[in-house]
Amino acid sequence: TRAKRQGRRVEIYHPADATAARRRFTLETELRQAIERDELTLSYQPMIELKTGRIRAVEALARWNHPERGPISPSEFIPLAEETGLILPLGRWALNTACQQLAEWHRTISAASRIQMSVNVSGIQLARDDVVEAVREALAGSGLPGEHLKIELTESAIIDNPERTKRVLEALKGLDAQIAMDDFGTGYSSLAYLQRLPIDVLKVDHSFVKGMLEEEDSFEIVNAIISLARSLMMDTVAEGIERPEQAARLRTMGCVYGQGYLYARPLSAADFPAYLENC
Ligand code: C2E
Ligand code: MG
Ligand code: MG
Ligand code: MG
Repeated sequence: TRAKRQGRRVEIYHPADATAARRRFTLETELRQAIERDELTLSYQPMIELKTGRIRAVEALARWNHPERGPISPSEFIPLAEETGLILPLGRWALNTACQQLAEWHRTISAASRIQMSVNVSGIQLARDDVVEAVREALAGSGLPGEHLKIELTESAIIDNPERTKRVLEALKGLDAQIAMDDFGTGYSSLAYLQRLPIDVLKVDHSFVKGMLEEEDSFEIVNAIISLARSLMMDTVAEGIERPEQAARLRTMGCVYGQGYLYARPLSAADFPAYLENC
């Protein structure tokens, strides 16, 4: 991929490149089949209101358990899906499945009635698919009210085409969905878009949360993001909370929601109802 990105520059041959390229090619074929055969699943990770400890939403995270190779990480297959265009069918599948799943939990589990579903949407979908139509279909097909759906976007997803992004996000708001900025603080875009776009939530990237108790810099960045969100009337979700001291500190800093292994790992659809009954 490096050679491709750098155009025709001649690269020194390295056997590992050939192995990596072969794995990539095989994985691409197999990912296409996995999507067609409905072999991907979604896991659901709770988002917790820090003040009360109560669950407020779940984030749907794609999982691929390869029949021979075992589980393949989203950090490998999502970029692959983005490079190959497979993210378009994968993204629609994720939206439909997540909405259907939450609608079912709303019907069958009383403790689930106020929970929202958060779905990751890639910049490739924003640029190349009709995301508004995809969301409308997912809501209509599942019967889930739009106010229970949150769309997570990264900064890289929104900088490509600001005009189009604005139209799409406003149309999503028109369906009552909420918009969250994922991995906030790690992108390269200017902050001006926060003014222009209808964003409801900033998700503080886990890399800042990870070091916030030991490193002054990380702490100040987390603090600045929380203040920024508050002044712009947005909510904050801190990602990757692993320790109780992080949660306590984030709470006193005014962060509203948190997500991380401290509360729960991403759970399979089968395990989620039991978690809900006990929390
Ligand atoms: P993300 O949206 O920022 O999701 C959060 C990631 O952090 C998830 O990784 C989650 O399992 C992990 N995580 C949660 N709590 C903790 C914690 O306490 N500590 C640590 N170290 N990690 C934690 P995962 O599931 O491997 O997903 C990685 C990324 O893949 C996601 O990052 C998202 O960008 C992407 N992704 C996953 N599913 C989808 C999907 O359906 N569509 C799209 N477009 N992207 C997806
Ligand atoms: Mg996310
Ligand atoms: Mg994130
Ligand atoms: Mg992330």
